[in-house]
Amino acid sequence: MSRKRNQGSKWITKSKRWAIYFRDNCECVYCGRSLNDGAILTLDHIVPCEALPKPDNRHTNLVTACLSCNSSKNDKTLEEYFSYLRALGASDKKIIKINNKINRARAGRDSRTRSNNSLYFNGYMKKAKLFLQQQ
Ligand SMILES: [Zn+2]
Repeated sequence: MSRKRNQGSKWITKSKRWAIYFRDNCECVYCGRSLNDGAILTLDHIVPCEALPKPDNRHTNLVTACLSCNSSKNDKTLEEYFSYLRALGASDKKIIKINNKINRARAGRDSRTRSNNSLYFNGYMKKAKLFLQQQ
């Protein structure tokens, strides 16, 4: 069993989890399926927990992934996962699209706002907290 699974659900707050989902438009960065498409959203560690002495749980290392993509990425590095997707027939265009979404998450900014990393994420934290209050 991987260390990621052993972390359970207590490793991240609900609001931080939802802030990341909102940042990524509630869509899997790998296949593009969303909550509306019936995808079960999870958080994927871009640099897998297994690759580090201690898991990197910062928002810049976390992206929204559906359960199915997260299971297939598992403990692969991004490069390993791209090779795996290519072997399954993914086009260069698709890989580039995924890579762009991941770079945006890593940088903590997008082309629309160009704002400071923490300010940018704080906006999503506010949105997530409001959303959770309404649940
Ligand atoms: Zn997916």
